[in-house]
Amino acid sequence: MPSSDILATLHTFSMALSFILGCLVGSFCNVCASRWPAGESVVSPRSRCPKCRNAIAWYDNIPLISWLILGAKCRHCGKSISWQYPLVEALTGLLFMLVFLRFGYVAATPVYMALCAALVIVTFQDLADWTIPNEITFPGIPIGLALALVGMVYPDSMLRVTDPINAVIGMALGGGFLYALDRVTVLLLKKPGMGFGDAKLLAMLGAFFGWKGFLLILMLGAITGSIVGGLMIAYFRFRGEKEESPAPEADEATDDESGEEAAGSDDEITLEGHYLPFGPYLALGGLLYMFFGPELIDWWLGLTSAPINGGMTLM
Ligand SMILES: [Zn+2]
Repeated sequence: MPSSDILATLHTFSMALSFILGCLVGSFCNVCASRWPAGESVVSPRSRCPKCRNAIAWYDNIPLISWLILGAKCRHCGKSISWQYPLVEALTGLLFMLVFLRFGYVAATPVYMALCAALVIVTFQDLADWTIPNEITFPGIPIGLALALVGMVYPDSMLRVTDPINAVIGMALGGGFLYALDRVTVLLLKKPGMGFGDAKLLAMLGAFFGWKGFLLILMLGAITGSIVGGLMIAYFRFRGEKEESPAPEADEATDDESGEEAAGSDDEITLEGHYLPFGPYLALGGLLYMFFGPELIDWWLGLTSAPINGGMTLM
């Protein structure tokens, strides 16, 4: 067997392994995002069906596969299992595989896989609970700073930041910017602030990616956030108008099934009394910077200055 074949096989094997590892970690991300808001332990008790409270056996808790085999239904009560569980598992698996493809056999790969998992938890907890877990940001900030030291000592690690001062500046700018924005909102607009979860998250990302990372992540987060936020406001306004208009068919609905479906819609996210969560967009910006940071900076500089940067490459 020629050595190139062996390398190709090893590469495919590592890709598959990264995906499987990501799915397993994603399963744990689901547990964290659903238990941390209630202050519950993520270690015990065992996973339970949220509807019938029966413990889930290990063979019914295999990422992706069990959900498919069970037909998205609990073995005990037959009630449906949310698609969010396999989505988070598949997403984390995909991210782990992409991190391996981007960075390869270097120290940055496990580091950024862990960061992906952290950002997946942040995203789904913020979407469901409007909070960003301190369980992620409190350890994340010192870890990000420490990694800059590792990057300085071992440049071959492929870590994005190789200068601890840069990491400290990124952290201070990230935390300080959103903290100041919150204070200004409270003082000038007399509205309740957006909370410090986002500030701590941006401080963490600043520690991981330095001051350039902070700037790009804030910009990417603001752009994607305003696009999605605008679409959501338009959607809720459209739905609100539809609900206000008379619906003559409603009287004819007699079967119990339609009643059950209507009750299920209580769980849906509404805009009332909330700021739109910013965490998911900061997380997305962080991921984009992790994958394409240097290329994004080249592209940005190319836009703002004379076309000096001719050869821009992605991936
Ligand atoms: Zn059940």
